Order: sequence, then C-alpha cells, then structure tokens
Amino acid sequence: MAKVSINLATGSIQEEELIVGIDLGTTNSLIAIVREDEGQRKPIALRETDGLTLVPSIIHFGPFGDVHVGQDARQHLLDAPERTIYSVKRLMGKSYHDVEDHAASFAYKVIDDHTDSLVKVAVGNQFYSPIELSAQILHQLKARAEHVLKVPVSKAVITVPAYFNDTQRQATRDAGKLAGLDVLRIVNEPTAAALAYGLGVRPDEERSIAVYDLGGGTFDISILRLSGGIFEVLSTHGDTYLGGDDFDRALVGLFKQQVPQFNTEDDATLIQELRLLGEEAKKALSHSEFFEGSIRGEKIHVHRHEFESAIRPLVERTLDSCRQALSDARLSTKDIDAVVMVGGSTRVPLVKQSVREFFVRELFDSFNPDEVVALGAAVQADILAGKNTDMLLLDVTPLSLGIETMGGLMDVLVPRNSKIPSKAGRQYTTQKDGQSAMAITVYQGERDLVADNRKLASFNLKGIPSMPAGLPKVEITFLIDADGILKVSAKELRSGVAQSISVKPQYGLTDEEVEQMLMDSLLNARKDMQARALVEASTEAEQMLLTTENFLQKNRNLLSEEEMNRTLSQMNTLRVALSAKEKNQIQAATEALNDICRPFAERLMDSALSEAMRGTKVL
Ligand code: ADP
Ligand code: MG
Repeated sequence: MAKVSINLATGSIQEEELIVGIDLGTTNSLIAIVREDEGQRKPIALRETDGLTLVPSIIHFGPFGDVHVGQDARQHLLDAPERTIYSVKRLMGKSYHDVEDHAASFAYKVIDDHTDSLVKVAVGNQFYSPIELSAQILHQLKARAEHVLKVPVSKAVITVPAYFNDTQRQATRDAGKLAGLDVLRIVNEPTAAALAYGLGVRPDEERSIAVYDLGGGTFDISILRLSGGIFEVLSTHGDTYLGGDDFDRALVGLFKQQVPQFNTEDDATLIQELRLLGEEAKKALSHSEFFEGSIRGEKIHVHRHEFESAIRPLVERTLDSCRQALSDARLSTKDIDAVVMVGGSTRVPLVKQSVREFFVRELFDSFNPDEVVALGAAVQADILAGKNTDMLLLDVTPLSLGIETMGGLMDVLVPRNSKIPSKAGRQYTTQKDGQSAMAITVYQGERDLVADNRKLASFNLKGIPSMPAGLPKVEITFLIDADGILKVSAKELRSGVAQSISVKPQYGLTDEEVEQMLMDSLLNARKDMQARALVEASTEAEQMLLTTENFLQKNRNLLSEEEMNRTLSQMNTLRVALSAKEKNQIQAATEALNDICRPFAERLMDSALSEAMRGTKVL
C-alpha cells in the first residue's frame, strides 16, 4: 500500500513520507490522508474494518488497568460513568478555576487542587492530565491508521478550534508527542474545512467564504478570503460552549417533563441514559418528523417542531456570532460567495435552513460535515509534504497582543485579526536616568488599560548600561509562528543586551472569555478612551514635574525669588490636580507650568552660550 520512490542520484529506495491529518474533536476524532486518484490528489477519511471513520473521543479505564478508546469506551458511559472520560478537549490547557462553573456537567471527577495549575481528572486512585487523555485518543487513531495502511504513522497535522490559545495549542502538540506523533502543524479547524473543498486552487479564483462549524461542543465561524491561490482568514468568532451537546440537553429537558417521576440528582447513570437518548432522538429528528423511545420502561416522544423551538435560541446565538465575524471582516452577507458547513450538528435541518437564510446562499455541504476538518488537515499535510504547492495558508490572531507602557496603558503591537505567521516590532526607551532594567509585560486583549486585559507573561530585560533617560533604544519584537505561538524578544540596540521568551501562559482563556473581552471592549470604549486620556495627561504632567525639579536643582541661580515661588506654587497646583485625577485640570496646570518655565529654558540656553564662549563646558 505504501508508495516507494527511488532516489535517482543514489539508487536507494525511500519510503514515501506519509503525513496524516487528524481532527481531534471534542466529540469525535478521526484521521484522513490524501491519495492519488486518477491523477488527482484527493483527501479521504480512513475507514476501519468496522466501516466507521469517526472515533468517539471517549476513554474508558477498566478495573484491571485496561484502557479502551472510542466505540468500546462509549458503552461504559452508562455502566461506569466515573471511569469513562468524554469531552477532554474542553479541559485542554485549562485550570480547575477555568472549568469549575462547568464541573457539574462532567460525570467524572475533575480535581479541584485550589491552584492555577492545569486541571486533572481522577479515575479511581489515578490522576490524568487532559494531555495524557488526549494522547490516549491520538494513540488509538495512530494504531487504527497503521492497521489500515500497514505502514508506520509518525507524522501528523492536528486541527484545533480557531479560538484555542497558546496553552491549548501547546497542550495539543504535547498530546501528539506523547502518542508518538511528530506534530508538524497545528491548523485551525475552519481553515482546514475550506481547504478540504479545495476552494481557491485556481490562481485566478477570488472568493470570500464563510465556514460555519457547529460540532458537539464548540461553535466557530470564520470568514476567509481566497485570492491568488492564497487562503486568508479575515476574521473568526465563536463559542466554546455551544454545540450538539446543548441540543441533546434541550431534548433531555423535554424528556424530563414527560417523566417527572425520575430523579436525576445523584444518579449519574440516569443522566447519561437521558443524554444518550437525547442524542439518539436528535439524530432521528434530522431525517424524520417524530421520535419515540423509552427510558426505564417509560415512553417518551418528541416532534421535530418541539425540538426546533427548544433549540432556536441556540441557533440564533450562532447567527449573532456570524454577524460579529462579518463585521470584523468588514463584509456583509452579500459579499460572501460560499458558505461551508462543518460539524455533525449542521445535519440538523433547522441549522441548515437558518444558515442558508442568513447568508442567502446555497451551502457547501457535500462532504460529511463531521469528516471535512480531517480531510482538510490531510490536504494541509499534503502541502507540508511538498506534494501540493498550489496553496498557501494565512491565519489570524483572535485578540490583540501588546505590552504595558507608562501608566498601565496597553500598547498594541499585533492588532486582533492580524495574519499569522507575523512579526511586529517597536522601539521603547527608559523613564529614569541610569535605569538598568526594563520590565516587559505581555498582554492580550482589546482594552486600553492593561488592568482590563489578560496578562500572558512578563520578563525583565537586565544589564542595560547606565544612560540618561530616553537614550537607550529597546526594541521589542513579537513573533507569532504558524501555530499561533507567540515569542517576545527585547534588545537594547546600543549595547546589544537581549532577552526573549516564548509565551505559554499558566492557564488558558476560554472562548467565552475571549468573547467577553471583545464585548467589554465595545461596551467600555468610551470609558477606556477617557481613562487613556487621563493616563496620558498624568504621564505628561509627571514628566513635566520631573524636568522642572531637575532644572530647579541645577539652575536655581538663574531664577529670581519671585519666579522661584511662582514655579513652586504652580508645581503644587499641578500635583493637586494629579491627585484629584482631573484630566482637564491636569492639562491646564501642565500648560501653565510649561508657560512659566519656557522663558527659563531660553535663559539657560543663553547662559550656556555665554559660558561656552567663555570656554567652559556645560553639562
Ligand atoms: P466535534 O467537532 O465537536 O468533535 P462533530 O463534528 O463530530 O463534533 O459533531 C458531533 C455532533 O454532531 C454531536 O453532537 C452529534 O450528536 C452531532 N450529530 C451527528 N450526527 C448528527 C445528525 N444526523 N443529526 C444531528 N446531529 C448529529
Ligand atoms: Mg469539529
């Protein structure tokens, strides 16, 4: 099955490099590869002898140390919920603090260790990190692929939701490594989906595309621009806690009304039974109008229209995200040429219909929506293997990245929705004479004050040679690699002192937080502008006070007593305004102090001149 190629220079036989594409999903995972088919390179999902392509992202730990993944593990959701782990992806790169609000929704034990370190799952007396758990799934996928392909599989492209932050991407990478895979690239899921459809292959093709991805647990919308064989992600938006699971829950809600005698409290098995029945009903309702089933001997039934009324608000929320993504991309629905449907939940007729009506477009939905991301990952793998040179990929950062400057202001180096990989740099200088170190603190977010943003990391650039304030030139560079991981470096250009870090925050940011941050920045835009104006006025005032103090210390003799008093009194007025945090007063007082001091500065220059003419150097 594996292809071999002969190196004509050496005559040696080389096994063709196989790089697989993996969709490591919240609900389902799968592997795809690209095959040569009638002269064309086509992505296909790997199908096991059981005929299935999807591997449920579920891990069961048996009582004898045996581990089961996928369909085998799924059965145990009912008989051993506390030993059967699902939705691990929700825990990737998270601390307990991040997930505690949702902890009750897991039927297994998520450990509260009262720290900000990464969360663990307890099974019996064993503890597992989400990385180890994901590695179990990846290991299973790898084994399946090797079984089907009959060759070793060691290189992969793995997809992640567009809003995964650095920690979550790194965690995914680490899981791959733990499973014995060399992870060549982490790719955003919506981007992969667009790739799968091979849109934009023709160099003359120009299109704007929306990728709507509603899976089991996450929702993502991406607006892509295809031009000259290049995929560019114009904007992304989404919600980590919106997906088919919520549809199941809506149905469980309807069932509970029909069997009020059932008490789900403290009955994990019943909760799981209801959940599975909910999913069964949902899938049935994708092709029939009515579902009838039973639970513990009691009949339940649901009509499609009942289901649709229950989930309509959820579908509406996805459309709100679409509106936001469009507005971020500065496009309207009529600018969108194609809409790609991704994720098993887009099989729900109401979802398709709503999306079709929203965009007023026919949908790209010919591939299985739950396979299309893996297919795209395989296409990306094919590009990396050098076999497909027609396409190139650009992604974007979901939030702005910057550093803290004087007065706690956010100075943005990489604005949100910037293309990645990307590089940005800016020069800064010292505030104080002889300052030998500079604290560089990296933030993520849209607010004007860093206090309102998310701190990612900080470090000290030490060993700056002694120079007057304002003289050192410290260049800060932000480098975001193709995986979206940020490297920050600082270099003092006069001395060459340098330092850098890779930003891997302690624990991550949820999509909800990302959304909240974007929302906050809109809601607080006015307040932020005022806060920024105050900080800027205060910074200028403090600088003015410092300069004046320095001047008075060195040049007292140039001033009359009256001038001296007037200056000191105005400095006091300014200090009072500063402590009152009154922007207008601060500006007025700074202006007044500046007016008083300006003639002194001229006098100093004159005196410097006359001294210079007398042959004495002035410092
Ligand atoms: P993820 O990307 O989160 O792993 P998938 O894309 O595999 O998820 O989608 C899984 C979701 O799709 C589940 O909630 C599942 O119930 C739902 N799903 C699968 N088939 C159907 C169907 N025929 N009708 C409705 N929902 C479906
Ligand atoms: Mg998915």
